[in-house]
Amino acid sequence: MTEQSLTDVALPASLTGRTVLPSDARYERVRHGYVHRGAPAAVIFPENVEETAVALAYARSRGTVVSVRSGGHGISGRSTNDGGVVIDVSRLDHVDVLDRTRRRVRIGAGARWGRVAQLLAPHGLAISSGDTGDVGVGGLVTAGGMGWFARRDGLTIDHVTAVEIVLADGTFVRADAEHHPDLFWAVRGAGGNFGVVTAVELEASETGDVVFANLVFDARETAPLVEEWGAVLEAAPRELTSFLTLMPAAPGRPAMAHVAAVYAGDRPGAAQRVLTPLLGLGPLLRQEAVLAPYPALVPVGGAPHRGQGLGATRSGLLDRVSTQTARSVADALASGQVLMGQFRSVGGAVNDVSLSATAYAHRTQNFQLLSATVPERERSLDAHWARVAPEVNGVYLSFDTRRSPEALAEAFPEPALTRLRALKARYDPENVFDRNFPLR
Ligand SMILES: Cc1cc2nc3c(=O)[nH]c(=O)nc-3n(C[C@H](O)[C@H](O)[C@H](O)COP(=O)(O)OP(=O)(O)OC[C@H]3O[C@@H](n4cnc5c(N)ncnc54)[C@H](O)[C@@H]3O)c2cc1C
Repeated sequence: MTEQSLTDVALPASLTGRTVLPSDARYERVRHGYVHRGAPAAVIFPENVEETAVALAYARSRGTVVSVRSGGHGISGRSTNDGGVVIDVSRLDHVDVLDRTRRRVRIGAGARWGRVAQLLAPHGLAISSGDTGDVGVGGLVTAGGMGWFARRDGLTIDHVTAVEIVLADGTFVRADAEHHPDLFWAVRGAGGNFGVVTAVELEASETGDVVFANLVFDARETAPLVEEWGAVLEAAPRELTSFLTLMPAAPGRPAMAHVAAVYAGDRPGAAQRVLTPLLGLGPLLRQEAVLAPYPALVPVGGAPHRGQGLGATRSGLLDRVSTQTARSVADALASGQVLMGQFRSVGGAVNDVSLSATAYAHRTQNFQLLSATVPERERSLDAHWARVAPEVNGVYLSFDTRRSPEALAEAFPEPALTRLRALKARYDPENVFDRNFPLR
């Protein structure tokens, strides 16, 4: 679909001031995502539910590809396209505390998590989202949400109490445990397949200052460091959540490991006791630990996206960080098969939730592994992943660029996949929302 043919069929009047076309000076700032580059024929910015429904009807009437975008950080989900329509909900970005006593908040799907953190902090509240303040509410809250308090608080979706969504036929629905419970279940893990989420209600957590530690190690001995990090996390109390990022050696420096760790409490003595075992992971190059308000952990950037991220990724959930997994990742980094490896701790409160409570149905694993490279080296990535695969127990699709039936089956183990497909047939029979992972 070209710009000409889009404008031939007039935009509904309510959208004319809301739409950016390729001829517009603003187009360069809105065409791409963080990872994926795009050349859409139109980017529409609805400002309310009605305009969202009109934008969707318009895009459908054109027979174009429809992408839904909140923060534009999709790795698996492609929130831009070539020649189609992008419905960008970033102007639906309100953050309201509905009931401080019960910690109930309502957030527009287009808000970014860093701003959410800033606006909730004065109320002594926070929602564990992810490690990046610019990630959007809509994309994360429809998939999972592995954040800085994952082991204390669970996933972001575990705090969602209601979703407001425009379905493929334009109907607006509020789904919660009593109303449309099937849809409520599906959106919390596979939401990108079911409509345009406009807002969510969540139960936030009481959170004041927390201890944030950043440790950088010489990782020449990568495998033992990785294995030990896993052991420390398994033994740690739930207040500790940590992400371990591994970078291969580069000219002038050895392989390095960055351990980011959050102690979700404000008592420095207790934090020190919990963090100290991490100091022994290897030769320490740099260390810092600060008592900080949660918004400082998810700063807001706001630069336009350029499609700059590592575009080929694999995700695997792990029960443990075994010797075999640690060795495979270390070898892949040393050989150049992958350019970045990242482990995240999950477990803890994530695993208190029943397997059938949400479409995200991984409630026994303790770690998440992400391996990434550039698309041109995807075959090397696959060779590495074949070695890791026997240890993998499930996939978090937000971190995986595969679109194969195998990846889908690992992401939604039965009976979740069959239930999702039945709901897809009911709520989106024409597969309008096909830009995330192919449920059908
Ligand atoms: C730098 C970076 C750091 C990250 N860190 C974390 C992390 O710490 N923890 C974690 O769990 N994940 C993390 N992610 C993954 C991230 O959560 C997902 O990629 C998520 O989809 C991004 O949300 P978004 O709204 O910014 O994405 P977008 O690109 O806007 O959307 C991605 C996809 O989500 C769906 N979607 C988006 N908005 C809506 C909506 N309103 N209604 C329905 N469907 C929608 C669509 O299918 C879309 O294609 C990170 C990603 C990046 C790039």
